Amino acid sequence: MAADGPGLARRAARRVFLCVLCASVLTLGVACGLLPAQASSPPPAGALVVSFIDVGQGDATLIQSGGESYLVDGGVPEAGSRVVDFLRSRGVEELDGIVATHAHADHVGGLPDVLDAFPVSRVYLSGESAATTTFNNFLRAVQRENAQVLEVRAGERMDWGGTEVTVLSPPPEAEGGLFGDSNEDSVALLLAFGEARVLITGDAENRAEEYMSTGPFTGPVTVLRVGHHGSSTSTTPLFLNRFRPEIAVISVGENPYGHPTPQTLRRLETVGAEVFRTDQDGDVIATIKDGRVEVAITGY
Ligand SMILES: [Zn+2]
Repeated sequence: MAADGPGLARRAARRVFLCVLCASVLTLGVACGLLPAQASSPPPAGALVVSFIDVGQGDATLIQSGGESYLVDGGVPEAGSRVVDFLRSRGVEELDGIVATHAHADHVGGLPDVLDAFPVSRVYLSGESAATTTFNNFLRAVQRENAQVLEVRAGERMDWGGTEVTVLSPPPEAEGGLFGDSNEDSVALLLAFGEARVLITGDAENRAEEYMSTGPFTGPVTVLRVGHHGSSTSTTPLFLNRFRPEIAVISVGENPYGHPTPQTLRRLETVGAEVFRTDQDGDVIATIKDGRVEVAITGY
């Protein structure tokens, strides 16, 4: 217990700092809190809730808005049941859509469990493929579900329960099409809800980030899901300068790649982003409502 004390105090102090940052730049008031370890509650009405689920080294983000639920990626195969349990704890009974940002196992591995556990209306893909058992398992699960499959490219817009979603990458054919690299071809999404903006870029690296940075949707974002688990090949200075994140969430677990890298952490510090990490904070849940952002963590 003694080891927990200083950690919790540090987090509390960080969140006070966070409130000041967001109120001054985006005019969004912020409240912060620590969720009980076994949080279980559906989202409040009139809110956009973005939950960065702790799936270890991987990615799984639940988006809830206007009574609709969407899942962006589902972690490694072993994380599938954890994602299913988390969705149930947040009141999810069916998914209006699943986005597979790209074909790697730490993003699509857990999705078959999710597709088998919930009715799923639509599955969004970039169109890139992979000849791996994990990706084939995912495609078979999509076929079993008989969900509508849609390829999305930059410039496309969707309405997710009152949240406006714009695809920022990969480029459409008219602008060069896929980059030809699985990470770079990640589906990147910008969510807009009132004044708040949330950017999720999968494992996009410097080429895709440069494309997004020179596109028409730059400007400050309230929450950035940091690209590629904090790899130094993502989160470039150009990208950070164009999108100026107030809150940065790194979805990361034990890994041999050195994620998140010191370079990425320094760059985030340079632009004044407040950083949350799933390996240290557990599930990170951002609730945006009435011009306020509340960041809650399940902690360890
Ligand atoms: Zn990844």
